[in-house]
Parts: sequence; C-alpha cells; structure tokens
Amino acid sequence: MKVKISEILNSGRITISFEIFPPKADADYENVRSAAEKIAELRPDFISVTYGASGGTSKNTVGIASYIQNELHSTAIAHLTCVSSTKGEVARMLDQLAENKIENILALRGDIPKDHPFPIEGGYRYAYELIEEIKSRGDFCIGAACYPEGHIECPHKEDDINFLKQKVDSGVDFLTTQMFFDNNVLYSFLYRILRKNITVPVLAGIMPLTNSRQIKRSCELSGTTLPPRFAAIADKFSDNPKALKQAGIAYATEQIIDLIANGIRGIHIYTMNKPDVAASILHNISDIVGK
Ligand code: FAD
Repeated sequence: MKVKISEILNSGRITISFEIFPPKADADYENVRSAAEKIAELRPDFISVTYGASGGTSKNTVGIASYIQNELHSTAIAHLTCVSSTKGEVARMLDQLAENKIENILALRGDIPKDHPFPIEGGYRYAYELIEEIKSRGDFCIGAACYPEGHIECPHKEDDINFLKQKVDSGVDFLTTQMFFDNNVLYSFLYRILRKNITVPVLAGIMPLTNSRQIKRSCELSGTTLPPRFAAIADKFSDNPKALKQAGIAYATEQIIDLIANGIRGIHIYTMNKPDVAASILHNISDIVGK
C-alpha cells in the first residue's frame, strides 16, 4: 500500500501521526520493530522514522520504515538528513528508499556536527538544497521541519521565516513543527508564515513529557520555551516516573484538544518508541478524532 502523505493531509480530516527512532545498535532492532508494530496497531495516519544526523544509522531508518510500510501496511515517512553526506551518498539513499517503496521523506539538514568541517566537500549547507535534489528525482512526497520559536542558529525570527519560504518553494508538500508547549506560540507562527504566503499544511509537533531531564536539555539545545505550568510538572514529578508519565500524557492531551478546537488538523506526536504513551493519548481523544 503506497500512499503519499500529501494525499492524506488533503483529505480534510484530522490526522494523527506518531514518530519513532531506529535502533542505534543492531541488538535493539527487535525492540524497535515490536514498538513499531504496537504503534501501527493504533492505526495512525502515518508513522515517521528519524535519521541520525551523522547518517550512521541510516540503514536502520530504511529498514524500520520499510517494515512499517511493507509488512505492517501503515504509511511510513523516512527522515533524511544531509549534513554529513555527499550528493552521491544522498542519491544512493534515495534509490534505496524508492526500492523499498517508501515515497514520503522528511528532508532535513541535521545539526552541524562538531567532528568534521561544515559543509563537507561536495555536500549540502541547507535543507532546501536537499529538497531541490529530491524534487528533481520526481515522485517523492516531501516534508520539512519548521520552528515556531525560530531555529536556534538564526538570530532573527523574520529571517528564519524568509528561509522557510525559500525551503517550501523548493518543493515542500508539508511542514512539521519543532515541539512547543504553549499553543499560542504555534498560533502566532501560523499567522506570521501565512503573511509570507507559506500555505502548505503544517503538522503540530507534540512531545509528551516522560523524562524531565531529557526534555529540559533538548529545550535548552533547541531554544524551546518551557511555560511555567509545564516546568512545574517537570519539576514536581521528576523523581516519580509513573506520575510524570501520567501528567505528561494529560498535558499533551490538553494541548491537542485545544489545537483541534482552534482548527489545527495535523497532529504529530513524538512518541519516542513508547506505544503505551501513544495509546493513552489516542484513547483520551478517541471521540474527538474518530479513532
Ligand atoms: P534548514 O532548513 O537548512 O535550516 C537550518 C538553519 O539555516 C536555520 O537557522 C535557517 O534559518 C538557516 N537557513 C536556511 N536556509 C538558509 C539560507 N538560504 N541562507 C542562510 N541561512 C539559511 N535531526 C536529525 O538529525 N534527525 C532527524 O530525524 C530529525 N528530525 C527532525 C524532525 C523535525 C520535525 C524537526 C523540527 C527537526 C528534526 N531534526 C532532526 C533536527 C534538525 O535536523 C535540526 O534542527 C537542524 O539544525 C536543522 O535542520 P533543518 O532541516 O530545519 O535545516
């Protein structure tokens, strides 16, 4: 079953998608396959599979995405970063994705690595260059990342949106946002991108809080604001994993209900290989999304 995500998003209904990351070590492969299977049983609109910025786990991204697409018969999207790849390596990866019948790609640059020069010789500086390359091959549906609070490297939010416009015009079919914990941040961003005539569908990226330290660290690195209400939960329950998970699921649920009530149709949940978290959130909104 081959389905382009652009077709799913154009259906006009509310869509729910989940994200998983591939195993770093081959020994974890079965665990990730099992998580993918349980997540696919929830019948999301699609499942995304992340990609190591260094490309080190690229074969596992293709392997897990192919498993989801061809054996679990759920629509898969493979992330693809270009920061550590030559154009030849990207071409080979695109061949592999096509051979595995994966026709949805989230095209990313990746974070600038500390261990080699940037850009590498014959490589890429920005995601839009990768998107042009993928677009020139024809038949992939292309997603890209966007940052409601601005990308951390870009000092001016307005410039970041101008670069986003260039990226979208290079051939992007839809955008997925960086995590955010205050919905007003997203509403203001959507207003600002519309003024720049960016009109592709935008999926709201929701990160359920299940690990306080990890989330604080990734917010620091990405420049994501922690609203006081969220920070209080992260602090209060940081040493009680079960309570934290319950509170995190409740917070994500509330965020999603508010987004849907305000007309957002695409919800992408960073489920981090946790089928139980995905199932609990879906259960909480089952009548709202009709699943
Ligand atoms: P770009 O769109 O290229 O932007 C990077 C920076 O360059 C921005 O500051 C932008 O303003 C600036 N810029 C863009 N174009 C220009 C230009 N023409 N001139 C000057 N400046 C410009 N990382 C992974 O390693 N693996 C993953 O699987 C992964 N998945 C992600 C999924 C989502 C939904 C998101 C939001 C992020 C993900 N990331 C992932 C992280 C991402 O790789 C990093 O945030 C990376 O630093 C930027 O990637 P990008 O594709 O947004 O880059």
